[in-house]
Amino acid sequence: MVLSCALCGKDKRQFKNYSFFMVPKEPDMRKKWQEFAKWTNVLDHYRLCEDHFSVEQIYKRYPRPLLKKNAVPQYVNVLLII
Ligand SMILES: [Zn+2]
Repeated sequence: MVLSCALCGKDKRQFKNYSFFMVPKEPDMRKKWQEFAKWTNVLDHYRLCEDHFSVEQIYKRYPRPLLKKNAVPQYVNVLLII
């Protein structure tokens, strides 16, 4: 399965330097993500790319960036700059 963003559809093959964050397992957090993205159901493999988070919500660290605890997506409309 291709790793892609469940909101804007960016996929890892095209956006190699992007980070994709898995939907949280914790129910309250999961619900916030769901409400934000307006998903009818949330599946475990759903991910959002870094475009939906503010810089402050992401730890840029090795080997891969992590989302801070309680990070909720904020940006729905993202301009694709290619
Ligand atoms: Zn995205």
